[in-house]
Amino acid sequence: MTTISANLQAVKSRIVAAAKAAGRDPGEVMLLAVSKTWPAESVRQAAAAGQRAFGENYVQEAAAKATTLADLALEWHFIGPLQSNKTRPVAETFAWVHSIDRLKLAERLSAQRPAGIPPLQVCVQVNVSGEESKSGCTADEALELCRAVAALPNLRLRGLMAIPEPAPESAVAVRRFGELRALRDRLNAAGMQLDTLSMGMSDDLEAAIMAGATIVRVGTAIFGERAKI
Ligand SMILES: *Cc1c(COP(=O)(O)O)cnc(C)c1O
Repeated sequence: MTTISANLQAVKSRIVAAAKAAGRDPGEVMLLAVSKTWPAESVRQAAAAGQRAFGENYVQEAAAKATTLADLALEWHFIGPLQSNKTRPVAETFAWVHSIDRLKLAERLSAQRPAGIPPLQVCVQVNVSGEESKSGCTADEALELCRAVAALPNLRLRGLMAIPEPAPESAVAVRRFGELRALRDRLNAAGMQLDTLSMGMSDDLEAAIMAGATIVRVGTAIFGERAKI
């Protein structure tokens, strides 16, 4: 067994244990393997171990990997900040974008999504309290942005994504992730139909699953420590 396949098994065990502890069906939680900075060969090893969904942050790197690995039926998720002038390869290659934080981005992705393939599945990224990065709309902006994104023809709005600042204790982490879930519930009460909460990474996936995550985005625990770039 390669290290990557052993790591994948360990992460899946953590997901199952966390879901059970939360009284949830482990099948409700999808594992997104975050392969940014890792070569195509690492993705190939993870795919050989049964992993299908991969997350990437950098457009050029991701597009090159997708081309190299076109022989595998992989599902690519864009999870990083996206510049409006770089949307086309994402619209053409990816199945999901988790980082929609403004309408212009969504409009371009919808306009550039090729005909004849399924709509691009998207999440609106929200900057919940305590989030270090400046990415994401505010909770107050989320309803208006979700309504506008949901109306675009070639996108399918699935839910919300957040990257809360790492919390020192799991109770604090659960509370931060719980804010995203509460926002999702308010948006659904206001007429949206959001089934996805993309939250939780290598260090805090248990807290995220406790708070209702349906996609956890895990890099380091599968592929190892990334080189600083
Ligand atoms: C890099 C990254 C991850 C994975 O983080 P790890 O701590 O390596 O698991 C998850 N989500 C986003 C948005 C990322 O940029």
